[in-house]
Amino acid sequence: MARILKNNLFKNKRKIRYKNTKTMDITNIYGTTKLANGVKMPCLGLGVFNMESGNEVINAVNTALDTGYRHIDTASMYLNEDGVGKAVREHQVKREDIFVTSKVWNSEQGYENTLKAFDRSLQRLGFDYLDLYLIHWPVSNTYKDTWKALEKLYREGRVKAIGVSNFLIHHLKDVIADSEIQPMVNQVEFHPYLIEQELLDFCSENSIQFEAWSPLIRGKVNEIQIIRDIANTYNKTPAQIIIRWDLQKGVVTIPKSAKPERIKSNANIFDFELSEEDMQKIDALDEGKRIVGEHPDEF
Ligand code: NDP
Repeated sequence: MARILKNNLFKNKRKIRYKNTKTMDITNIYGTTKLANGVKMPCLGLGVFNMESGNEVINAVNTALDTGYRHIDTASMYLNEDGVGKAVREHQVKREDIFVTSKVWNSEQGYENTLKAFDRSLQRLGFDYLDLYLIHWPVSNTYKDTWKALEKLYREGRVKAIGVSNFLIHHLKDVIADSEIQPMVNQVEFHPYLIEQELLDFCSENSIQFEAWSPLIRGKVNEIQIIRDIANTYNKTPAQIIIRWDLQKGVVTIPKSAKPERIKSNANIFDFELSEEDMQKIDALDEGKRIVGEHPDEF
């Protein structure tokens, strides 16, 4: 398979910051971004971490699909893939119109183990393919073998796109140097207190789609005065402001809520645009601080 080459389109550093707005459709809830292999990934998804696998996750996925979300982010570690799969399979929206991500957990990594973990995830979901499979964390002695397994699953057509999560630049360089297929996505903790501009630039330069986990800092965005002030001027909630900020930065985002009214309200972000000045005010909150997760080199 031909190596997926670095995309030269985004060499101009000044354009990198918001590069994906050029390829990302953020005009409506069905908008997608094209991954390096041409697969379309919906820019807004529902995260389902911390939802129990029964009615809670089933109801949340149903509400999301009814609202127009077409992207669900789960993981084997969330122990709710069976609920996600049931909701997706039984919903009137066709399976091929829904983008589902899962992830291989740390204790499942390594070449053979990952192949088995993928089979288990697919079985729990009740799917015959996955849209995106990610390495959940860069477990130092196994992530390269794990990546080889993801390449195999991709070549076999069992997953439409493959990527990583919580990878720093050195992990990405390490994988890229020794692989035929580059990661197409890097899902990381990302919010106004943790922007990691160098990592964002590196991903842009290498056509790796950046994806935000804990975009709402687990609800704490509501407590940040500058965001509340901006929210007031647009007549929006702080959560809506930050989800919109993600998209305008070219970042795919997967806010989690189990509450129907919040699932709907978090997606009500396509009828306004943040000004460049307000984007910069939010950017200025960056402290390079991990609020939710561990440092990837220490986890
Ligand atoms: P989020 O930043 O999405 O915040 C979720 C929390 O915010 C929940 O407690 C939710 O409560 C609350 N919330 C949601 N909407 C609103 C709102 N409008 N106003 C106020 N509070 C709100 O955190 P997550 O950590 O869940 O991250 C999102 C997703 O990212 C996860 O679900 C998971 O899919 C993924 N993830 C990936 C990781 C990785 O290592 N790759 C690590 C962590 C998360 P309620 O449900 O009650 O509405």
